Amino acid sequence: MHSNKLNRFFLWSIVSLALIALGLGSYLSWTISQREPESAQTPVEERTPLPTKASRVVIVSWDGAKPVVMKSLIDEGKLPTFASLQVGSYVDFDAQTVVPSVTLPSHTSMLTGRPISEHKITWNDYQPERGFVKSETVFELAKKQGIGTAMVATKEKFAHLNKPETIDHYFHERGDAATATNRALEILEDTSVGLLFLHFKEPDAAGHAYGWGGGSKDEASSQQYMAALQEVDRVTGLLLAQLKSDDLWNQTVVIITSDHGGKGKSHGSDSPEDTTVPWAATGGGIQQKYQFASSALSGRSISTMDTAATALSLLEIPVPTDWSGKNLLSKIEVPLGTPTQ
Ligand SMILES: [Zn+2]
Repeated sequence: MHSNKLNRFFLWSIVSLALIALGLGSYLSWTISQREPESAQTPVEERTPLPTKASRVVIVSWDGAKPVVMKSLIDEGKLPTFASLQVGSYVDFDAQTVVPSVTLPSHTSMLTGRPISEHKITWNDYQPERGFVKSETVFELAKKQGIGTAMVATKEKFAHLNKPETIDHYFHERGDAATATNRALEILEDTSVGLLFLHFKEPDAAGHAYGWGGGSKDEASSQQYMAALQEVDRVTGLLLAQLKSDDLWNQTVVIITSDHGGKGKSHGSDSPEDTTVPWAATGGGIQQKYQFASSALSGRSISTMDTAATALSLLEIPVPTDWSGKNLLSKIEVPLGTPTQ
């Protein structure tokens, strides 16, 4: 009897331990199965479309950047920032500016979406007595929607675009492109700034002093002009690196363009050498969020006026219907949770 009791005790103990082990095992497998949806969340998050409303649009203008010279520098590996945009961004080397292809009228079209005949900034120097541009600027329209605005320009004449109460942070930066970029990055520490324009004068200055070149195979570009393009490319790379390290990168779009090219030591004509400019848009996941709206162009080239319209659309501000400039980046509509592959 005693040994039977003992045996029963052992049997009971073994059964109990087995039950506990079974229970523990079930608990563990339940815990793991509970975790499975969590681990499955990562791909769900990856499938979730990136936000298509940009919190921040940065327009960078390389004054006097001539696409044919840029392309030969890219071929030689000497324009690494712009070259890097050829993968995963939108790049065009045949955009067109307005005529006369000069700095202030051209930038005014870039930032108002209108031709010179409408914005009426026909002069190309700072004439304070002539006041501000009458047309609404991209800054003005953004500001009306409560978006913080900024401009860092390295030429004084941009003051004609600095209409009262439309640009929160306006700087005529007398220093070089690197100094202007540092200023822009300081401004962008304020996350309420959703639209910033940054201007580099170096290529234009070198073109006027030493020549643009690149018009034919016999006409080499001046070393100084090429060096200026390389410098603004380097500085633009620093800007992009800083923006990419920011939490806002997925909601940031950077447009890099120019106001005109040049030939000899001048520009301003309707010749393609003067009117053709680069136009590029980059940003976190840009090609997953936006497609190039070629239908907006109806067969024409990209215009500098499209810059303002694209910036507004990215910020989800309606583009005035009478603007010549059109939005170039239409949203890719993907319902939430739909695989993008
Ligand atoms: Zn210029």
